Amino acid sequence: PEAITVGELAKRMGEKGADLVKELFNLDMMVTVNQTIDQDTAELLVDQFGHNIERVSEADVDIDTAEDQDPEETLKPRPPVVTIMGHVDHGKTSLLDALRGTNVTRGEAGGITQHIGSYQVTTKDGQKITFLDTPGHAAFTEMRQRGANVTDIVVLVVAADDGIMPQTIEAINHTKAAGVPMIVAINKMDKPEANPDNIRTRLLEHEVIVESMSGDVQDVEISAKEKTNLDELLEKIALQAELLELKARPDRMAEARVIEAQLDKGRGPVATVLITRGTLKRGDTFVVGTQSGRVRAIVNDQGKQIKEAGPAMPVEVLGLGGVPRAGDVLAVVENEQRAREVAQYRQEKATEKRTALAPTNFDTMFNNIA
Ligand code: GDP
Ligand code: MG
Repeated sequence: PEAITVGELAKRMGEKGADLVKELFNLDMMVTVNQTIDQDTAELLVDQFGHNIERVSEADVDIDTAEDQDPEETLKPRPPVVTIMGHVDHGKTSLLDALRGTNVTRGEAGGITQHIGSYQVTTKDGQKITFLDTPGHAAFTEMRQRGANVTDIVVLVVAADDGIMPQTIEAINHTKAAGVPMIVAINKMDKPEANPDNIRTRLLEHEVIVESMSGDVQDVEISAKEKTNLDELLEKIALQAELLELKARPDRMAEARVIEAQLDKGRGPVATVLITRGTLKRGDTFVVGTQSGRVRAIVNDQGKQIKEAGPAMPVEVLGLGGVPRAGDVLAVVENEQRAREVAQYRQEKATEKRTALAPTNFDTMFNNIA
């Protein structure tokens, strides 16, 4: 169909029909909930309400088993997955490096030749924390739109000598939309012009209220450059994680999310994945996107080959048939035959969806409003 009723559109957007009618009235269109509107008007409305239309692509055809839940009694505690966000130049990369450096010196020294961008840190109390190196807010949003909500906690980095900048606000909005708790890291405290209280006050304007201002958002003053207070930041993350009671089932066939992937000259297609449940083992047969593969090697965040990887671990996987997209689900299956079946099923589904997505096809276009 090339038209949709206001009521149906509202339902798909998760908004009230009356609100859409009101908005249409503001646009000089008198329609009721039961009347139809054309595609352009519908798109305009979707936009006005701040939703995005997700374009359907082949990678979105997920394996049918990806939806099921593991029984409560099989779940075990898992480390939290943290994403660092903030305005450009406020110190995200420096903080990621500093946290990793702290950990590296504490672990065995030297020998680190190559490593992936995402990694795990162990706190003084022995708790593990996974840090994801996701390049920018766009990646975070795109992953989320694709149902890949892998981040448990966001660390918002704000430079104490600067202030609340456009991308700080963007990060706050993304974090709120994702319903993920936030910890504010006030960075660059080593600078003489640092003014952390100013940051705390300005954050109020964006409804981020830190504990010292009787809110419930934890904050910590750090210097990524001088590596000060990083242990305190880790402790706060661990504390926040405890409240979330994060769990996953380790003893099952693995499922993972692709964080990033590229074609490596020597090693072929390589994907950095985050294990979401189960244990990934060398030799496992899997499907990712519309392709099947077999785990040839698993490389951990220290660049070492390992035999298996459990929940919340970020690892590199070798043995893919092609380069997957960030956000794709990698799912281990029983055997190669099953892998081929699933891959073929997904390819067919993807073709169906693409065919259905002819420009005038209204229905599929609005199937996936995020
Ligand atoms: P990103 O764009 O958020 O990833 O920021 P970067 O980590 O690249 O840092 C931007 C600049 O700020 C670099 O020149 C860093 O050296 C500097 N910087 C980062 N953290 C600190 C800090 O704690 N103190 C000082 N003085 N400079 C910092
Ligand atoms: Mg950076």
